[in-house]
Amino acid sequence: MEDIIRLLPDAVANQIAAGEVVQRPASVVKELLENALDAGATQIQLIVKDAGRTLVQVVDNGKGMSFNDARLCFERHATSKLRKADDLFRISTKGFRGEALASIAAIAHVELKTKPAADEMGTLVCIEGAEIKEHAPVTASDGTSIAVKNLFFNVPARRNFLKSDKVELTHVEEELYRVALIHHDITFQYYNNGQLVLMLPASNMRQRIVNIFGQHFNDKLFPVELDHELMRITGFIAKPEKAKKQKSEQYMFINRRFVRHSLLNFAVEKAYADLIPQGMHPAYFISIEMDPAMIDVNVSPTKVEVKIQDERLVFGFLNSTVKKALGTMSLTPMIDFDDSFPDIIKERPENQEITVPTIGANPNYNPFDKVPEKRHGSPFQQFGGGGFRHETPSSNDWENFLKELNVEKVDYPKEEQQAVDFHHNTTENNLDLPENIPFFVFQGRYLFFELNGQVMVADLPNVQERILYETYVNALKNTPIHPQQSLFPQTVTLTAAQSDLALSLKEDFLRLGYDLEKIDNTHLAVNATPNDEEDEGDVQALIENVLSAYQTNQVIHKGDKIAGIAQSLARQKRSKQRIPTTQEEIKTLIRRLFESDMPTLTPSGKSTLHIFGAEELRHYFE
Ligand code: ADP
Ligand code: MG
Repeated sequence: MEDIIRLLPDAVANQIAAGEVVQRPASVVKELLENALDAGATQIQLIVKDAGRTLVQVVDNGKGMSFNDARLCFERHATSKLRKADDLFRISTKGFRGEALASIAAIAHVELKTKPAADEMGTLVCIEGAEIKEHAPVTASDGTSIAVKNLFFNVPARRNFLKSDKVELTHVEEELYRVALIHHDITFQYYNNGQLVLMLPASNMRQRIVNIFGQHFNDKLFPVELDHELMRITGFIAKPEKAKKQKSEQYMFINRRFVRHSLLNFAVEKAYADLIPQGMHPAYFISIEMDPAMIDVNVSPTKVEVKIQDERLVFGFLNSTVKKALGTMSLTPMIDFDDSFPDIIKERPENQEITVPTIGANPNYNPFDKVPEKRHGSPFQQFGGGGFRHETPSSNDWENFLKELNVEKVDYPKEEQQAVDFHHNTTENNLDLPENIPFFVFQGRYLFFELNGQVMVADLPNVQERILYETYVNALKNTPIHPQQSLFPQTVTLTAAQSDLALSLKEDFLRLGYDLEKIDNTHLAVNATPNDEEDEGDVQALIENVLSAYQTNQVIHKGDKIAGIAQSLARQKRSKQRIPTTQEEIKTLIRRLFESDMPTLTPSGKSTLHIFGAEELRHYFE
């Protein structure tokens, strides 16, 4: 038989490779921006026309290329970044495969102008579908400009596959954000169809986030920080109220590279679990830096997916760092934290297995102490109610590890448990409140008061929701609410399934003050209710709502039973807020709020309180 195997001509091979690397204009944007960064640029312009279909151009002030390199860079496997196989494990540049420019040149018209600062003359290279049309000296400014025109001109199938301009442009901009967020120290300018759309001056990360996503983010961002010999975590998480249905504002970077890693995403989302409604996703911008040898970025051609050697460890560190930030968040307006991480994870004796710190919240925390007292040496332990618990996943098995995490609850050490009886004033005087607190209520809803030299505005229904939530969690876990026997028990009508579920939760309802008893398959008697007066319709609706919230939370979201019930009940009763009229009442309200886990947020993540210091007020008038 005749030989039939042939080596593909380079041009064809490159076209095939291009399919992997270049799916759409946004892919070109990513590759060109990354090359500019690798070249050490401090100023980068992105110029796009027709959503990148007719032009994607990146101009940088980086190190440029020599006359020969300007030609060579379009060859497959042409890279200046990798010399031997070993280097693969020490990659610190964005690119290293040397296939991006070759791929792009195979399917577009490319015009490259480049000049190293030390050279007199620059170089021009024009390529069309991998064919060199021009390679000549030109006058050029320092750095490199690569213009990619008429993408997929020779691959109609690809071209037709592109989505609308709007969709493609969204992808283009998303690529720009991913690069620009983590390289905030670099100036970016972005032009679309001849107009400057985004000017991003070199700045810190917070400023960069605000410049990209808008001023409304500014006071909603909280820093996350961990400095450990194994990894550094920095960046910002957004207040729970910034949560969205889409996961669109979630940015995770490892070694300054945008990554998607479902487990790490879960580590962050899990930290927010009780703070945002199910099905919503928090916004975050988190950067992890660790030894490149611990990760493998070589798994996908576009390098968004990564493999991490010890995922569990990173998971643990990330989860507790975010929890810490969330814990600090609720108290931030009032105090400055010394954000040192506890010694326990700073000093790790050799050969000892690494454990991951976890934190809970301290219900006895007094937000009116201007300076947190250092009870146990570390301010961080304020939130731990006794400091860190060590949690070492007992098995290497992934599934088990996740299961363990799912059942993990924030349990307070026994002595710190504190009964909060909502129906009576707390006698315990944890907070040092002044004799007289000036206050007034605006529109029956907004409570203004002065405390500690600051003006605070509280939203009464939201405050009520937070306080009730704490009360119910406490009732379900520790101190039940006292049921009041009714002279004439009320009857509620449910489906048989609902009724079964209600009876299976009889114990929990009793802890909340509702004594349920079966009459028949579809009827329950409510023999007792909590102290607050409720008419029949209310009890019926309340039980139905709790049951359905419980079901959604348990069955669909696999959530925590107590949090689910407490949240539903708190949401239903939040509008029955009492409006404080006396000093006694306002003090009780302030105490209950500030003794709660997260005084400034409702369990569903809305703000309860805004605080205006003299500084902030002054801003309004200058
Ligand atoms: P990789 O980035 O994986 O090395 P590319 O095909 O993206 O592969 O680029 C090939 C080479 O071209 C790079 O290694 C680099 O030496 C050079 N290069 C590409 N873009 C630039 C640029 N903007 N400035 C300087 N050199 C560049
Ligand atoms: Mg590259």
